[in-house]
Amino acid sequence: MPSERDVTTLGRASSWEGVRAVVAGFGVSGFAAADTLNHLGASVIVLDESEGDDRRREQAGLLEVLGADVRLGPGTTASLPQDVDLVVTSPGWRPTTPLLAEAAGRGLPVWGEVELAWRLRGESPAPWLAVTGTNGKTTTVQMLESILQAAGLRAQAVGNVGTPILEAVMDPEGRDVLAVELSSFQLHWTQSMSPQAAAVLNIAPDHYDWHGGAEAYAAAKGRIYERTQLACVYNVADEATMHLVEEADVVEGARAIGFTLGIPEPGMVGVVDDLLVDRAFVETRATSAAEMASLSDLADASPHNVENALAAAALARAHGVRPAAVRDGLRAFTLGPHRISEVGRTGAVTWVNDSKATNPHAARASLQAFERVVWVAGGLAKGATYGDLVRDVRDRLAGAVLIGADRDLVAAALAEHAPDVPVEVVDGADDADALMDAVVVAAARLAHDGDTVLLAPAAASMDQFRSYAHRGDAFAEAVARHARG
Ligand code: ADP
Repeated sequence: MPSERDVTTLGRASSWEGVRAVVAGFGVSGFAAADTLNHLGASVIVLDESEGDDRRREQAGLLEVLGADVRLGPGTTASLPQDVDLVVTSPGWRPTTPLLAEAAGRGLPVWGEVELAWRLRGESPAPWLAVTGTNGKTTTVQMLESILQAAGLRAQAVGNVGTPILEAVMDPEGRDVLAVELSSFQLHWTQSMSPQAAAVLNIAPDHYDWHGGAEAYAAAKGRIYERTQLACVYNVADEATMHLVEEADVVEGARAIGFTLGIPEPGMVGVVDDLLVDRAFVETRATSAAEMASLSDLADASPHNVENALAAAALARAHGVRPAAVRDGLRAFTLGPHRISEVGRTGAVTWVNDSKATNPHAARASLQAFERVVWVAGGLAKGATYGDLVRDVRDRLAGAVLIGADRDLVAAALAEHAPDVPVEVVDGADDADALMDAVVVAAARLAHDGDTVLLAPAAASMDQFRSYAHRGDAFAEAVARHARG
């Protein structure tokens, strides 16, 4: 086998001619990685077991015209081609996947799109403000983007939120600063990123099946703090996030900044009366705090969204944004779809879609935002358990409607911790619409005046739906059909 090129020293200005790169997984970030590497002059092979939809096939055709070798379909990822210098993997691939295990065995560098993007930042690159956590990532980076833009900066929310980081990094127009959402999967593959400021919002059970357990999951999240330059933002109410800061190897001088729903100590941002205040970045923090915004500036002032706003504010302040821009940015922000959004009213019953609550921790935040709830739950548990959640919210439950592959797990938790709560199980139906029609009918039977029917499944959707968005849309449409009678 010809000797491998050392790619670890290559950057944006290097010649990538002769570098043989395999892009494993042809999703959104896989396309961006393949396109970028091809553009830089590397020889690119793209592998994916799935042929993908029309858009993917179109992108595959485009890459082939540009000279890449795109191999899609069953069997294509069974083994790693010979003569490879670099593997760029899709974040979803487990490290134990045969192809990635083979790459590791051969001692090849395996990067994610995040690592590649970090290495390809040009001269005087935009600083990264990075966000991870079990829940609230997307909301927080979008709030952060809004704040940074309100400060007059060319800022963009990128990463797990949807837009590949490479798109922003390679754009000749440049950016002043990036709000980077990172999943635990993405962080697993990240090695050299050095964010200006980084936040872990919370750590709760999720994706244990992928990472192989709680410790590995937390450790992956903790990687976000490594090499942080100015501020490691942690959640005062979630001690695990603080421990990750303590364990991280940061740039000298980087500070730990807490966020809290209570009154902040020096070195924290927090809440005083109805104000979000900064007691971390003001000179006089020993004795006073600066007002950044008020709770009424938030589109939704549920506790979890106040936390998200505080984390976003801390990151923006670390970047040097004025307190007034925090207020303007939060005022301009609206919550994304499928996140606690009201989708209908029938009589005195309110129907709410929080399909994005894909794990117990998110569902807890959501359930705690309402007094009496008929809870629509179930799907793919991803290794999660439901006992603690049910125990914490049982007094709010007027009933539960259970769906999905792991509904028995939720049913067992209800039977143990909330035996008086009426439960209806809706078995799989012909299609998503029929399923949600049955769910809505069952929920309507259980709901009384003043109740909220809340879709907050505490589980992933892929067993019965294409995505959480598909699940949320199917629910909203079924509610609309039910309301029309
Ligand atoms: P992520 O990008 O981490 O999945 P989102 O901002 O999309 O997070 O929110 C996902 C769901 O998690 C929301 O619908 C809400 O139910 C819940 N959630 C949002 N922020 C928090 C938080 N800070 N703590 C707990 N749950 C949250």
